[in-house]
Amino acid sequence: MVFESLGEKLQKTLGKLKGKGKLNEKDVKAAMREVKLALLEADVNFKVVKNFVNKVKERAVGHEVMESLTPGQQVIKIVNEELTNLMGEKESKINFADNPPTVIMLCGLQGAGKTTLSGKLGNLLKKKGKNPLLVACDIYRPAAIKQLQVVGEQAKIPVFTMGDKQDPVNIAKAGLEHANKNGNDLVIIDTAGRLHIDEGLMDELGNMKESINPNEILLVVDAMTGQDAVSVAESFNDKLNIDGVVLTKLDGDARGGAALSIRAVTGKPLKFVGMGEKLDDLEPFHPDRMASRILG
Ligand code: GDP
Repeated sequence: MVFESLGEKLQKTLGKLKGKGKLNEKDVKAAMREVKLALLEADVNFKVVKNFVNKVKERAVGHEVMESLTPGQQVIKIVNEELTNLMGEKESKINFADNPPTVIMLCGLQGAGKTTLSGKLGNLLKKKGKNPLLVACDIYRPAAIKQLQVVGEQAKIPVFTMGDKQDPVNIAKAGLEHANKNGNDLVIIDTAGRLHIDEGLMDELGNMKESINPNEILLVVDAMTGQDAVSVAESFNDKLNIDGVVLTKLDGDARGGAALSIRAVTGKPLKFVGMGEKLDDLEPFHPDRMASRILG
């Protein structure tokens, strides 16, 4: 391995002696420098890193080192626990409607992976016994409708479209009616993205939210966008009060710091992670696994 892991660096900083007694302030301070660097390298937002490190520092100073651990391992244990806490202790689930259909609205920037996720999520929930309908509301990106139809065909899930000449809010409403008539208990709405946040997009999504009152608004974020992911998540959450986040493209080499930053900045849970381009490449978000990935 080219890079030393955080564990190895902390072994060097704090020594290999097991059961050292208590962690003292000087040791912890030195260790926190390494932790800070590791988090920044993993693309965690600077402010989030600062708050996090202060919290861990407070907890670690004076902490007993367990007999079976080196001080470095003890610090890693504390850091891991705090990271996992911050990202939510357990898996977050979809809010299903008491009276079906459950409506899930996917939003995010262009290229984040919304259309792909429509298929993946439909596929996953179909396997759990739902009868989904995908609704094509991305009327701006060329070929987005066709792409959703292809995904629907692969997953054997019907796709509702009205072409690209209608208002997306009207398409969404008509999609819901269609689901009600055809017994679909789950509606997944693929909305349009833009290359950057813009007012027009946010207003359109805001109007859609008001008219269809979805059970779940999921923000789709590309893990490869690193630090930018935080401002994107903040803007979408301010406007739409999202219910959760899906981080895509984690099969790439992104360390996943965006997961931590987004959670810290918006307070909203991560619900799924995209692990590839195929229908089955979707996994529930596991805070403990992400913590290990971020620490490297
Ligand atoms: P949209 O504009 O938000 O609808 O984005 P798309 O669903 O069209 O996805 C953009 C690109 O990212 C496509 O080439 C997808 O195949 C790819 N993609 C989506 N999710 C993932 C993922 O989890 N991993 C990888 N490697 N690629 C993904």
